[in-house]
Amino acid sequence: MSTIAENIAKVGVRIREAAQASRRDCASIGLLAVSKTKPAAAVREAFAAGIQDFGENYLQESLDKQIELSDLPLTWHFIGPIQSNKTKAIAEHFAWVHSVDRLKIAERLSAQRPAHLPALNICLQVNVSGEASKSGCSPNELAALAQAVTQLPNLRLRGLMTIPEPTDDPGEQRAAFARLRDLQQGLNLGLDTLSMGMSHDLAAAIAEGATWVRIGTALFGARDYSKN
Ligand SMILES: *Cc1c(COP(=O)(O)O)cnc(C)c1O
Repeated sequence: MSTIAENIAKVGVRIREAAQASRRDCASIGLLAVSKTKPAAAVREAFAAGIQDFGENYLQESLDKQIELSDLPLTWHFIGPIQSNKTKAIAEHFAWVHSVDRLKIAERLSAQRPAHLPALNICLQVNVSGEASKSGCSPNELAALAQAVTQLPNLRLRGLMTIPEPTDDPGEQRAAFARLRDLQQGLNLGLDTLSMGMSHDLAAAIAEGATWVRIGTALFGARDYSKN
């Protein structure tokens, strides 16, 4: 077994254990492999070990990898900060966007989504940790943003995403994820997705209802930004 395949097996065990502990069906929890800064060969290895969904933060890097991997039936998720001048390529080359935090970006993604593709799956990124993190809309802005996004024709609002302030305290991890779940339920829009949990806090996220865990380091090893 390759290291990546071994890592996938280990993360699979962590996901199953967390699901069992909260009496959840593991089939309701998707593993999104975060391949940012990692080469196409690593994605190919993860695909061979059973992963189909990949998350990327940097547009150009991702487009290059998508070309190299166009022989594989992969589903690409954009999970990084979005500038207006990147929305067209994101609308054209991804199936999901987890990091929408303002209406202008959502409007552009809808307008630029090619007609031959299905609606783009959207998660709204929410800042549940207050001052500490800069990305994401504030909980106060969420209801109006969600309502507006549901009106856009080429987007399908699926749920919410968050990146809480990092902490090793499982109680604090759970509190942040519970906040996202409560916000999702409060919207009352029938949303089915909670994108939350990374390598260090996936168990807490699953305990609070995650449907996508976004895992990079635990699958592919530490990232080396000097090569990017
Ligand atoms: C990099 C990244 C991840 C993966 O984080 P790890 O700690 O490496 O698992 C998940 N989500 C987002 C939005 C990221 O940018």
